[in-house]
Amino acid sequence: MPQHQKNKLLIAVDGPAASGKGTLARKLAAHFSIPYLDTGKLYRYVGYQILKKKLDPESCRSGTALKQAVDIANKIRPEDLNEKALNSEESGRAASIISGIPEIRAALLEFQRNIAKSPAGAVLDGRDIGTVVCPEADFKLFITASLHARAKRRYKELQSMGLSVIYPAVLEDLQARDERDELRKISPLVPAFGAIHIDTTDMDEAAVFEKALSIIMAAA
Ligand code: C5P
Repeated sequence: MPQHQKNKLLIAVDGPAASGKGTLARKLAAHFSIPYLDTGKLYRYVGYQILKKKLDPESCRSGTALKQAVDIANKIRPEDLNEKALNSEESGRAASIISGIPEIRAALLEFQRNIAKSPAGAVLDGRDIGTVVCPEADFKLFITASLHARAKRRYKELQSMGLSVIYPAVLEDLQARDERDELRKISPLVPAFGAIHIDTTDMDEAAVFEKALSIIMAAA
């Protein structure tokens, strides 16, 4: 019997950057009135704090920089994730580098699993939610879109934030992040076993939500 019939609903949403997974996850959480966690914010927070300390994210693979990064990860509080600077491209790039470091991923696991343990369930989105963080999720959704569709969305988003950006740079950055996320040894971005794939290339946000909701409700 699906978990949501037992008054608990755990949904894992994974996919590459700008695939629409965050918007979908937020809408599902609001629809079912359950907590939502954007796990990318955890990696962004560690990356941002590393940059603030004037450290190179690449240097966090060992030594005192690694210790500092793990310490930051261990001390994250929910309110830290509201910082606006986490949305910047610099924080995203730093996040995508430090997220390949096993000790940092391990330090962030408990925070994520605590949200997943909420009595009513939760929606978590990221890269390894269905594979590592919540393999027991009732629903595992894998959200994708073509690289160009995602780059166009990210470009518009950055423009709407008043940032001056050039499209080829946005495209190149996304491609580099995809490669890092997909090729890293630890928790690479891969669909979880049994994940439901939704390709959002030609879909708007409302259509993606309706499709995911209909899949979940059909299993009720
Ligand atoms: O989702 P978002 O783009 O904000 O995530 C920033 C970076 O954090 C990603 O590029 C990815 O490298 C990393 N990340 C991760 N695992 C997650 C969530 C994010 O490795 N569950």
